[in-house]
Amino acid sequence: MAVATAPYADKTDEQRAITEMVRQFVDEQVLPVAEKHDHEDSFPDEVVEQMKELGLFGVTIPEEYDGMGLDLTTYAMIVEELSRGWISIAGVVNTHFIGSYLLMKFGSEDQKERLLPRMATGEIRAAFSLSEPGLGSDVQAISTRAKRDGDDWVINGQKMWVTNGLLSGVVFLLVKTDPDASPPYKGMTCFITEKEPGVSEVPGLTIPPKIKKMGYKGVESTELVYEDYRCPAENVLGGEEQGLGQGFGQMMDALEVGRVNVAARGVGIAQRALELALRYSQERKTFGKQIADHQAIQFKLADMATKVEAARLLMLKSARLKDAGERSDLEAGMAKLYASEAGKEVVEDSLRIHGGYGYSKEYEIERLYRDAPLLLIGEGTSEIQRMVIGKKLLQRHKI
Ligand SMILES: Cc1cc2nc3c(=O)[nH]c(=O)nc-3n(C[C@H](O)[C@H](O)[C@H](O)COP(=O)(O)OP(=O)(O)OC[C@H]3O[C@@H](n4cnc5c(N)ncnc54)[C@H](O)[C@@H]3O)c2cc1C
Repeated sequence: MAVATAPYADKTDEQRAITEMVRQFVDEQVLPVAEKHDHEDSFPDEVVEQMKELGLFGVTIPEEYDGMGLDLTTYAMIVEELSRGWISIAGVVNTHFIGSYLLMKFGSEDQKERLLPRMATGEIRAAFSLSEPGLGSDVQAISTRAKRDGDDWVINGQKMWVTNGLLSGVVFLLVKTDPDASPPYKGMTCFITEKEPGVSEVPGLTIPPKIKKMGYKGVESTELVYEDYRCPAENVLGGEEQGLGQGFGQMMDALEVGRVNVAARGVGIAQRALELALRYSQERKTFGKQIADHQAIQFKLADMATKVEAARLLMLKSARLKDAGERSDLEAGMAKLYASEAGKEVVEDSLRIHGGYGYSKEYEIERLYRDAPLLLIGEGTSEIQRMVIGKKLLQRHKI
């Protein structure tokens, strides 16, 4: 008896059209300039302007706020394509995406109307800031404080590793508003702090020169130093009545979609490393034949391609669950863990296949090798992902 089957399609027509458009943009506009910007550690203004024109700053922002109104799955497919070109380009939109998610889910109507349309066009970019010099994984240990004074909250403290720290126009900032709260997360609040992009000194806020990094060049990572910085009370995310003391939960929710986002970056960088290895292994000859004809190299390519596919499937599953309104905390943790580790491993294998040339700045794989480790760290390290996965597993299978 014949069994009815549906044709296999991993993308809708709309998803295919948009990812093909982004791939073409990456091939024509990003890959040709990525090495130059990476080596100079310069911000790719011209590429970012084109990303604005393509609407890439408003992918998930609803149409009523002038965005494209697309789902997380389509966004993740776009991030994969951008990261295939250069993860720094994806980094410019990634914290922006997290900021828009926070506003869409927790913002008051007034906050959404004021900020989302300008964020959708890329006129203002968003950053999000949890980490401090003394903490990253242990978010409840945040020491930056806000105290109420008249109509404002006055913020003091130091933030660290803020992606888009200088050029953003809005920073979603997690601080302590009640240091005596027990447990500590109940005393944490998210503020929407607005600032002039590119200005490093305003009353109460200093942005020191960007941190020098191994990779992930171009996009700036900065500290933010707050000294009696005044933030209007109306800028508590969701409004004071709804948002005070809710910051930890809001940020953790946003980090869950942030993990899908990092997984997509892992898939993108691994995909590119695989493409480079497939090409190089058919060009380079040793012992009278292409290195691709040596079984050891074919086995490496086979493992690399299998990891890329597995990472992509985990990433897509976690995004699709979220879009369907289902729980995806466990799956997002798995996707982030696997795709970031796979990204690093596939990039390293590609570097090995490139032999000595892989170690040269003349070859793209050298940049990927410096970029890939970032994905093991941001949005929770691999150890933190394993903690999340273990905890969620036991919750779902409690006896
Ligand atoms: C380029 C870059 C960009 C970044 N962008 C941002 C940003 O935009 N906004 C932001 O807020 N932050 C950002 N970060 C910070 C990032 O989120 C943190 O670096 C990350 O969460 C890890 O924190 P940490 O560096 O303080 O390491 P720590 O928390 O000090 O951890 C050090 C080591 O100990 C391990 N560890 C910690 N706790 C445990 C435990 N309980 N069990 C087992 N192992 C443990 C960790 O896995 C890690 O291996 C960025 C970082 C980098 C490098």
